[in-house]
Amino acid sequence: MYDVVILGGGPSGLAAGVYAARSNLRTVIVEKGLPGGQMQNTLEVENYPGFLEIIGPELSEKMHQHATHFGVEWQQGEVESVDMDGLEKTVHLVGGEILVGKAIIIATGAQPRYLGVPGEREFSGRGVSYCATCDGAFFRNKKVVVVGGGDSALEEGTFLTKFAASVTIIHRRGELRAQPILQDRAFNNEKIDFIWNTQVTDIVGDGVVKSVKLANTETGEESTLDTDGVFIYVGFLPNTEYLKGSSILNNEGYVVTDGKMATEIPGIFAAGDIRDTPLRQIITATSDGAIAAMSAYHYTETLD
Ligand code: NAP
Repeated sequence: MYDVVILGGGPSGLAAGVYAARSNLRTVIVEKGLPGGQMQNTLEVENYPGFLEIIGPELSEKMHQHATHFGVEWQQGEVESVDMDGLEKTVHLVGGEILVGKAIIIATGAQPRYLGVPGEREFSGRGVSYCATCDGAFFRNKKVVVVGGGDSALEEGTFLTKFAASVTIIHRRGELRAQPILQDRAFNNEKIDFIWNTQVTDIVGDGVVKSVKLANTETGEESTLDTDGVFIYVGFLPNTEYLKGSSILNNEGYVVTDGKMATEIPGIFAAGDIRDTPLRQIITATSDGAIAAMSAYHYTETLD
């Protein structure tokens, strides 16, 4: 029996681990991939205080070491379902393993949203990518497009200019959603151009991506743009499949908590990108994790 079972080993889960273990709670983190979650796919992190610039995998490893240093156990595995009611919470992993905890912190984050157009699945890994850090180097001196107008599209689009000959950012509106500093960088980058008010309707290729079909959202005018790569950054979806139907999810599938990271079910807390929250950053994830762990601590105290 653990005091706390933390689902997910991204920044929120790892920070929760540090705070839980330092409160003498017997703590395990369950993670299906590498420590760090989305940080693993982020080359440059420059807005996590204390680190002017650090690569995501390095920050991930530092946080992982930090948590295990204080005695957090690390369990590789994928969560299949959670029995949340009652005083003993049971986490079922794919493969049949079971973990039991007094409190659960849900921190399984979010994953890239698909664009949902023909050719996207077919050419995934053959020109279509959701990770510039992973795949950018394959596009040295090639032409790529980036779909989206948020922080990810601009940050990753700018990163891709290290490799690509040109980067065309295609946005469905005439105004970007991204932070001004990222907009300024992209506007000042000679390798980046923009196509506004335009949707990608089809990804076309022959073994690998060759072009995208476009439609202007205002005029309906259709066109084709030759490209070697399509990087898709149209937002994220919460990893809450294993909680489907639960009352703690909102209509979009994010977990609803109060300011103490507590859900409406006693002993069930949530932290990070999986929460219904206005800002999803590494720093907000770690902050959520700390609060969730301390709330879990106070909750377990009430059980004794
Ligand atoms: P996001 O903020 O949700 O932006 C998604 C973008 O994709 C929007 O511009 C949206 O257009 C567009 N889009 C959505 N669905 C689309 C569709 N079906 N077809 C075409 N375009 C579509 O997602 P994000 O940029 O991945 O950022 C996610 C979170 O991480 C945000 O909270 C962001 O601040 C954070 N983040 C922060 C940093 C940083 O601080 N350096 C870096 C990366 C991400 P509309 O604008 O028209 O809705």
